[in-house]
Amino acid sequence: KAETLERLKGKENVTQSGQKIDVSANITSKEDIENVIRNDANGVGMFRSEFIYMESGSRFPTEDQQFQIYKLAAESMGTKRVVIRTADIGGEKAVDCMEILGENNPVMGYRGIRVSLDKEEMFKTQLRAILRASVYGNLAIMFPMISSIEEAIAAKNVLEKVKRELYEEKIAYDENIQVGVMIETPAAVMISGELAREMDFFSLGTNDLTQYTLAMDRTNRRIAGYYNPKHPALIKMIRIVANNVHLEGKRISICGDLAADLSMTEQFINMGIDELSVAPSQILALRKHIRELK
Ligand code: PEP
Ligand code: MG
Repeated sequence: KAETLERLKGKENVTQSGQKIDVSANITSKEDIENVIRNDANGVGMFRSEFIYMESGSRFPTEDQQFQIYKLAAESMGTKRVVIRTADIGGEKAVDCMEILGENNPVMGYRGIRVSLDKEEMFKTQLRAILRASVYGNLAIMFPMISSIEEAIAAKNVLEKVKRELYEEKIAYDENIQVGVMIETPAAVMISGELAREMDFFSLGTNDLTQYTLAMDRTNRRIAGYYNPKHPALIKMIRIVANNVHLEGKRISICGDLAADLSMTEQFINMGIDELSVAPSQILALRKHIRELK
């Protein structure tokens, strides 16, 4: 492995016929950053920020606690982009600081962007922390579990409000910070053309997209044999999203587990997927595989 890494260090992720694709990392903590750098990734494609909330016990993480973590991520990655996904609380991601009780279908319930839009103070605290950290590197913001244009616009409006507040307090932030959404509901796939006019970038969450498209709980072991992210319906959806996003000249990445499936890489490159974001431990194998493709 060490030998492979030495050979790949600083090299582009390009196939033998010259097709390029970025390989970035999915992380859950600041401890992961070291691994991202060691494996020479092109950036952080998704920082699962809800882990900060999971680890903060019965209290919400404060603005400053979050700021320190995002600042460290930004500084450590230098000019490379770090996409902070805003808290995707709920569903299978339980946190102690907010109990969500009494739902028959938590995965279809109060989760992700729905929680953020409902708990605006919590959302604003996170956005303030990200914006304050944005001057220390190349940060971007991504909203999870989007299922309508209205939600995406509402989330952007909260961000604009926070920017204005920081401006009035004379606190610096990156005015051109890029804002994207996850495509992980079938609705988001179907409106990806409209979303592509509103947002700067996109990332396919194939874990949830598989769950919602096939109507199969991603955590249910009994049906694990049926849960198939390579189902033709999913492949068609990925293709539709890539086309819609590219028609607007925007970038599409894949950050679900399917991004690391080496049997799919060639197909993803042929679809024009711009970036694959995988666990830090999967970066090397994927980079090696890309350079071996014809
Ligand atoms: C996904 O749903 O594919 C995804 C990347 O997000 P998470 O696994 O954190 O839900
Ligand atoms: Mg998801």
